Amino acid sequence: MRFASLGSGSGGNALVCNSGKTTILLDCGFGIYETQSRLARLNLLIEQIRGIVVTHEHADHVQGIARIARRYKLAIWLTYGTWRMIEHSLKNVEVNLIEADSPFFIGDLNFVPFTVPHDAREPVQFVVSDGDKRLGILTDTGRPTEHIENILTGLDALVLECNHDEKMLQESHYPLNLKRRIGGPYGHMSNADAARLLANLDFSRLSHLIAAHLSEKNNTPALARAALATVLDCEKEWINVASQDKGFNWLTI
Ligand SMILES: [Zn+2]
Ligand SMILES: [Zn+2]
Repeated sequence: MRFASLGSGSGGNALVCNSGKTTILLDCGFGIYETQSRLARLNLLIEQIRGIVVTHEHADHVQGIARIARRYKLAIWLTYGTWRMIEHSLKNVEVNLIEADSPFFIGDLNFVPFTVPHDAREPVQFVVSDGDKRLGILTDTGRPTEHIENILTGLDALVLECNHDEKMLQESHYPLNLKRRIGGPYGHMSNADAARLLANLDFSRLSHLIAAHLSEKNNTPALARAALATVLDCEKEWINVASQDKGFNWLTI
């Protein structure tokens, strides 16, 4: 199985997973043309995508899905709560409702949605598997929970939210209510939160770790890498960082 990111952060998120047979898009916070040009960097056409799996209704994850799904006749998979929040935009789109902890297949890719305490209506994140390897995706978390740790342990690859450095967020010019939302229990994980979560996982099989959803103002790739490398006791360069502009290129597990 291989996977790549079209871009990651509050300006837009999208990830592609490919089993060899099946290619799916996970979230799409970019418009049609932006999505096409970002897919082209990965040698992919929208026509090759089998469907779109959605984590939650925040604009940086759903901006492009209605138009792309309609134009390319792609089905989408999302929770009832997420569907209710964007239902108005989904006329003539095939919708498949999913539930946390109820795995489902798209082609030969298996998805396990799991709940996270993020401030959306019914957000989920996913473990994707081709039956052999398991990829975990956790980009909009809130805070680490025991449930998340139980699901993400023993993975082969992990895309892990490292939204902000706590000190940089505190010292930023963001208004106080925004600082509280981001740093609070239903917002986004800091580098330190991500490191704490990682420390509680079995990471012995992990062949790729990617820091994701970094704030462009309140974090740096170097700080995110350093926080995670300390836990794994590895070279900082071994850890990938998903950027807003480039995402990250194909990785294989
Ligand atoms: Zn979100
Ligand atoms: Zn987000």
